Amino acid sequence: MKSIRELYKIGHGPSSSHTMGPAKACEIFKTKYSADHYRVILYGSLSLTGKGHLTDVVIKETLGSVDIVFSSDFIEDHPNTMDLIAYKDSHEIGRMRVYSIGGGALRIEGETFEETSHVYPHNSFEAIKEYCKKENIRLYQYVERFEGASIYPFLMHIWQAMQDSISNGLTDKGYLPGELNVERRANQLLHKKMRNEPSEIYENRIVSAYAFSVNETNASGGLVVTAPTCGASGTVPAVLKYMQERHKFNDRKILQALATAGVIGNIIKHNASISGAEAGCQAEVGSACSMAAAAHAELFNLTIDQIEYAAEIALEHHLGLTCDPVMGYVQIPCIERNAVAALRAIDACGLAYFLSDSRKISFDTVVETMFETGKDMPANYRETSCGGLAKKYKFNEK
Ligand code: SF4
Repeated sequence: MKSIRELYKIGHGPSSSHTMGPAKACEIFKTKYSADHYRVILYGSLSLTGKGHLTDVVIKETLGSVDIVFSSDFIEDHPNTMDLIAYKDSHEIGRMRVYSIGGGALRIEGETFEETSHVYPHNSFEAIKEYCKKENIRLYQYVERFEGASIYPFLMHIWQAMQDSISNGLTDKGYLPGELNVERRANQLLHKKMRNEPSEIYENRIVSAYAFSVNETNASGGLVVTAPTCGASGTVPAVLKYMQERHKFNDRKILQALATAGVIGNIIKHNASISGAEAGCQAEVGSACSMAAAAHAELFNLTIDQIEYAAEIALEHHLGLTCDPVMGYVQIPCIERNAVAALRAIDACGLAYFLSDSRKISFDTVVETMFETGKDMPANYRETSCGGLAKKYKFNEK
């Protein structure tokens, strides 16, 4: 498996696969071909939700003089495919086919394009667990061992960026960009005074406020951390921020939890998918919930079996979750969905604490199941905005 540095990336929202990935593809292509004009053809999900996800905006910003074609074709190899063509004096001088495979990562056709090499010798939770038990180390120590001590300054940078995305979302008021007229609600969620509010509801409201703040920052094109994607960027920070405030965990402990969550995200990314276009929202918010549950379990020093169970419960109960962003914006259902996932992550950890000795399903099994379920999902439910809420939504309905 690759470094968790490849999983946690800081970038502009609203979508790692639809903005960060295409922007990077354009940068690589521009470096290769110094052209006076470009043409970019978007296929599949990139074409169908590209406008709402601001794909066309980042392409124009990166390439300058460019024609963008929203093709109705689907390319079998990957739902997020784009062709880039370079012209000089009206003659084609080069082309490249790129797949935006999720979390801002790319695959370039015909090239063994690798941003980093593999740093971990194990690829499944089972193998990692066996190693950790034999060596008597925790998951964050496993990360330390293969990434080196320099992983901590990196994780601190990531944690700071997560906290910034929370603060920014809490400060901003008004409406999110786009035609949906979605009101920013993070600030209200945090500060609104409710009479006779039960304490459990109050606590859930605070966790949700942090998730809303990150996802509202994301929806407006602000800087977020892919955890594991931009669309699913609110769940992990919400749980960590809430737990740090309530239980006074120091930053070192938060970084250890982030490292643990990184192992979970990495296993899903390596063996399945973190792309909504490839496997539905179970691969994005489901994965984020699983990472957050593992992080939460690490904060409370749960055993590796309990951490596995927390991550497994969190992913298992997102199986089948579709991706159906209304009008192509990463707003409905995405923002609320991150808040619900943060709450579920906390619940999953609670269940794992009590029930891990009687569990039947391994984390690796649920990861495999999630990917297979995603492959079986019709394209309408994989980030195309052709089905589900995106199809049923009526403009201005309440
Ligand atoms: S529904 Fe889920 S997978 Fe789809 S864009 Fe929203 S957060 Fe991403």
